[in-house]
Amino acid sequence: MKSSLKSKKKQLIENLRAQGITDEKVLEVISEIPREDFIPDFLRNQAYENAALPIESGQTISQPYIVAYMTQELQVEKKHKVLEIGTGSGYQAVVLAKLCKRLFTIERHMPLYKSAEEMFKKLRIFNITTLFGNGIKGWKEQEPFDRIMVTAAGEEIPDELLYQLKDGGIMIIPVGAQDETQHIIRITRHGDDFDVKTLLPVKFVPLLSGIVHSS
Ligand code: SAH
Repeated sequence: MKSSLKSKKKQLIENLRAQGITDEKVLEVISEIPREDFIPDFLRNQAYENAALPIESGQTISQPYIVAYMTQELQVEKKHKVLEIGTGSGYQAVVLAKLCKRLFTIERHMPLYKSAEEMFKKLRIFNITTLFGNGIKGWKEQEPFDRIMVTAAGEEIPDELLYQLKDGGIMIIPVGAQDETQHIIRITRHGDDFDVKTLLPVKFVPLLSGIVHSS
């Protein structure tokens, strides 16, 4: 890593701290992961700006603050089995994988699914299992999950995902239509009851049904 990127990364970590990210484990994994490897080459020097950036298939890698915030709110533990919907670049998946036991991640765009898989191999991260498919339905063969993170905005909270949470489990999901203000929502399962808390206003790409084979 060029020294300029290294100092920008240090600065980013300080900014995240100043913005209220207090979980040291989350800050540590963000400082370990080369975000420049998950974005197009021509944007390399913007890797540690606190901004969302475009990736393949018209999608985006989330802003580092949002990645840190959602990860902190998910309260991931080393023993957890975690599901992510929306693999995208694979960056958030790696953040989660470094904090949990096993991470399952689903992507509906084939080119993103393939390049994320290669990235996990390249970085030698072996506790991630990938699936090409529609994550709105969750992952029946692998449920229940201790934690679920959705990284695309649903117009509503998908019911099937709620019931793939363990009792006491937590799900983080941005909710809202594309032309409305979306919010990050945190849901905690208590038996058949779900405690819902509205957190930050955000802007995410949409959570869509179906799969896309090409870019
Ligand atoms: N976590 C990603 C964010 C990518 S943007 C990262 O760190 O880079 C959100 C991603 O969700 C996009 O790649 C989009 O294709 C994907 N997505 C949207 N709806 C989906 C669905 N129903 N199932 C799986 N992936 C979906």
